[in-house]
Amino acid sequence: MSNPFVAYVSGIPSRPTVNVRSGPNTSYDPPLFEIPVGTSNLPIVDVRADDKGANLQGKTYQWFRLQFPNGQQGWIRDDLLTVSGNGTAFGYGVVTTGTVAFNLIRSFVPNIPAQPIMPVGVVPSAPAAPVPSVPAAPPAPTIPAAPTQPMAPVVVTPVTPPTQPAAPTVVVVPVVIPVTTAAVPVAPPAPVAPAPAVPQPVAPPPVAPTPALPATAPMAVIKTMGAAPTRLGPSTTFARTGILLNRHGRYSILEVQRENANQRYRWFRVSSNGQAVWIREDLVSYEGDTSALGLPADLYPAPMIEKYWWVRGYNMAPNLDTGLVQHDGWDLGAAAGEPMYCGPNGGTVVKINICTKCTAEKPSTLMNGYSIGDPAIFNDPAWGFGYGNYVIVRYTSEQLPVSTRQLLISRGFGDTATMFVMYAHMAAMAVREGQVLTSGQQIGTCGNTGNSEAAHLHLEVRASKSAQFTGWFNVRSGVMDAVALFKR
Ligand SMILES: [Zn+2]
Repeated sequence: MSNPFVAYVSGIPSRPTVNVRSGPNTSYDPPLFEIPVGTSNLPIVDVRADDKGANLQGKTYQWFRLQFPNGQQGWIRDDLLTVSGNGTAFGYGVVTTGTVAFNLIRSFVPNIPAQPIMPVGVVPSAPAAPVPSVPAAPPAPTIPAAPTQPMAPVVVTPVTPPTQPAAPTVVVVPVVIPVTTAAVPVAPPAPVAPAPAVPQPVAPPPVAPTPALPATAPMAVIKTMGAAPTRLGPSTTFARTGILLNRHGRYSILEVQRENANQRYRWFRVSSNGQAVWIREDLVSYEGDTSALGLPADLYPAPMIEKYWWVRGYNMAPNLDTGLVQHDGWDLGAAAGEPMYCGPNGGTVVKINICTKCTAEKPSTLMNGYSIGDPAIFNDPAWGFGYGNYVIVRYTSEQLPVSTRQLLISRGFGDTATMFVMYAHMAAMAVREGQVLTSGQQIGTCGNTGNSEAAHLHLEVRASKSAQFTGWFNVRSGVMDAVALFKR
């Protein structure tokens, strides 16, 4: 076991210690003892959902039973811990970048007993060392061992393509949270170029004035649920700095580097109180003038506004990072009921799926007694093949960001390249099949339907040479990173 699953006590900013309890709920009181924030390399013995279902915005807290240096064991809640290593036995996959455990979505691997206590001392070095201006030579990059058990991604490609469910052609949203269109922010009108009815050779319409935006420094914006850990260099092979960046915090981007030649992920070097630290791009968004850094500025905004957090990124062949969970899409955590919107240039709804087994009380397979990733789910149209309630929106070539269109052309999709985007696990849907959407129109709300562990949006992007939609599995997956279309 080259890559033990360990915890770092990240705590909350205002408290120097964290309570260690005798069971997985705060009712196990008084605490056994307190442990200082910053304690690292604690072997994870077990993980359990909160005894009493305590949750934050619908996401149940998980508790980690840890082995402490004093010889005792005890429980700490997942929002107070940053974890890394091979968490496959507990349904976390291989966590290569230290991540606040609450930000992770668990996908249980059935029938695997809890791992024995990991030996201490073979884990990545502790944080806390002051940040040297030049990082020490990193250890030889140890590629985390491929998990012996197959990963259970939160959504696995169904074996058979979804077919149109026989029953409802008229969309009757079967679940919870009615979408009030009144809640939709006023959508700006679709940008329609003023097409003069009669050619006017004399006075051509002025070139769309490029608003002289003040050049703003490129800033990284943290989109994790809690504070985000940082590294001494642009790879998880570098030690953690111990410096955490705050959710929604804005930090100047100093440079951007790809992790190495074969890695999809880039790393941002940012300035935090004058110290330069590295953070992987999937934990941040960006704003300001990023063109010099090679970060396109014209991408669609994320489908949910501000109140979401980053959970998991895109990771598929041919650029599969075997150190990460295989995943065809992005997962954005949010509260159930959080509205989600289509792109800024409109789109067309080409498919709606209503999950007939998802009920308001028990929307997810997990709540119905299935394990996350149970193969039976992916063959069952009544579960939406695991996607639950979903909407597929077509964005034609002219509706795409210019940078995305150019990327698709460079990859051989031609100038009619079309993107199809699936919004999965929705609570309620506010659109119908065939509907033409206006700029930023609300599609529905975030939910926990299908093969899902907590309310989140699974955003899956596929491309086609043609605008004709003949089924989700007839359009190409794995051809590009979702980063090409949406900003986080
Ligand atoms: Zn997902």
